Amino acid sequence: MSIIGEVVETVKALTQGLKVTLSYIPKEKLTNQYPDEPVEVFSAYRGEHYLNVDENGKERCVACFLCSAACPADAIYIEATEDLRPYEQRSSVEERYAKIYNIDYGKCILCGFCVEACPKDAIRHGHNFEMAVTNFADLIKDKEYLLENRNRESQIPVVIIDSQMNVK
Ligand code: SF4
Ligand code: SF4
Repeated sequence: MSIIGEVVETVKALTQGLKVTLSYIPKEKLTNQYPDEPVEVFSAYRGEHYLNVDENGKERCVACFLCSAACPADAIYIEATEDLRPYEQRSSVEERYAKIYNIDYGKCILCGFCVEACPKDAIRHGHNFEMAVTNFADLIKDKEYLLENRNRESQIPVVIIDSQMNVK
């Protein structure tokens, strides 16, 4: 190919590339200025879990182990125990409850199987995605942390959008 031919081909290629770039300028920008602005997440987003409580603040978990059995990543560790005191005096809905309930986020793949397996609506996915830590030990979240996550939901810097209405 002659030099003139090469120049023509190069200009053609550049023009094609620039056309794509220029065509995006008038379009709506999808860049999210995180962390200055909240991130939009769908309501069904599977973020860090929280342990759920009933209307009186009693732990819903009955330590049935169904969630840990359903977990494909072996990320849930539970130790069960009993509190035989009446409902008003104990911290759990049922006498049987989880003395220890840990989720290891070094293993968890946020698949949602544990949430689906739970017969007591005791574990749910929250919307927190800020889960980075600086050492492996901090990836294991205990029961107290997971219970408190329920209260943290309202502080997470996200705008929750309905997955049915906003799918484009
Ligand atoms: S979300 Fe999936 S991987 Fe994570 S704890 Fe639940 S079942 Fe296990
Ligand atoms: S979170 Fe649900 S499935 Fe898991 S042990 Fe508790 S009650 Fe059972």
